Amino acid sequence: MDLFEYQGKQYFARYDIPVSAGDVALTVDEAVAAAEGAGYPVVVKAQVQVGGRGKAGGIKLAADADEVRLHAGNILGMDIKGHVVERLWVEHASDIEEEYYASFTLDRAAKKHLLMLSAQGGVEIEAVAESDPEAIVKLHIDPVDGLDRATARQAAVDAKLPERALDGAADILVKLYRCFTEGDCDLAEINPLILKPTGEVHALDAKVSLDSNAAFRHPEWEAYAATEVLDDREQLAKRNGLQYIGLEGSVGIIANGAGLAMSTLDVVNQVGGTAANFLDIGGGANADVMAAALEVINFDQAVKSIFINIFGGITRGEEVAKGIVEALGRVELRAPIVIRLDGTNAEEGRRILADAGIPESRLRSEPTMLDAARAAVALAGQN
Ligand code: GDP
Ligand code: MN
Repeated sequence: MDLFEYQGKQYFARYDIPVSAGDVALTVDEAVAAAEGAGYPVVVKAQVQVGGRGKAGGIKLAADADEVRLHAGNILGMDIKGHVVERLWVEHASDIEEEYYASFTLDRAAKKHLLMLSAQGGVEIEAVAESDPEAIVKLHIDPVDGLDRATARQAAVDAKLPERALDGAADILVKLYRCFTEGDCDLAEINPLILKPTGEVHALDAKVSLDSNAAFRHPEWEAYAATEVLDDREQLAKRNGLQYIGLEGSVGIIANGAGLAMSTLDVVNQVGGTAANFLDIGGGANADVMAAALEVINFDQAVKSIFINIFGGITRGEEVAKGIVEALGRVELRAPIVIRLDGTNAEEGRRILADAGIPESRLRSEPTMLDAARAAVALAGQN
């Protein structure tokens, strides 16, 4: 779950990371009230989950209430890379001497946490990685050892931060690492991390992505769920209790088990197609679950064919087949289905599908995952 900047800053504050005082505003009047609270000068910031807000005109300094009105009025409703601004964050403006970059992520291949630190902040880190990769210090951290202050300070030295920023940066890195680990983040990024003329180091932006699987130990995350940005398909899937992620392609995917669902996306790509979604219906693929899954896929106008990929273990083939037949009676599908049904009671399942009298143009069965992927991609007109 991705957080808005203001939520990320609230999360940082829990771990004692210095951020500016401010408030959220949904209207111009609220923006003025927030500015009065924060103290002028302020910065008015568009709250959208996309980078480069500054360049797009979504971040403006304001010296008084009139300027806040002007900028808040312009930024509210603004479209930034397809995200419409509905919320502002107004905070006390900071004086900036230098801008740095700091982040923690998980490096799955290395099975370690990864600190990235650069003296070149305030620009997209991908651009720095391209133009001057040497300027990014990458430090792997063994989760068992954690990150101590001396190591954090050395990373700041290696990143060529100036002497007077070292202690402040080390302090924030240790706190940010705690936020990342104890706070169960997938990503905790500060860009820019600034040095003020006073010598203080301070988080001017916040990009935080929370690991939703850890939600059970974070009751405080409920507030974030209320503002979670989901597209219409994802909202429908959530209401139906499905593990669904919307993608941009045209082959709708239904699979049982997250691993199989991901492999299904890979195979569809391998044969030249693109998946419209990830959808894991889990172990109990009964008619209700199947109907809900087909309803969500059918709702997506981009879907041109549907690939149902089931490998029965605990899930039984005949139940899946019955579920599909019953679901087809409930949902009027726009796109044809290709199914690969294998594993426990697969033969019986295929017989049920064959006996149901569904025309071949609406549902066809293929013996392997690869064959089914090819057929689904061909039906989607992608190959
Ligand atoms: P992003 O463009 O979406 O990453 O938004 P940021 O929050 O990182 O802000 C972009 C840029 O706006 C920063 O790199 C700063 O240069 C500038 N900026 C943001 N807040 C302030 C502030 O309080 N004071 C000053 N002087 N500049 C700011
Ligand atoms: Mn930024």
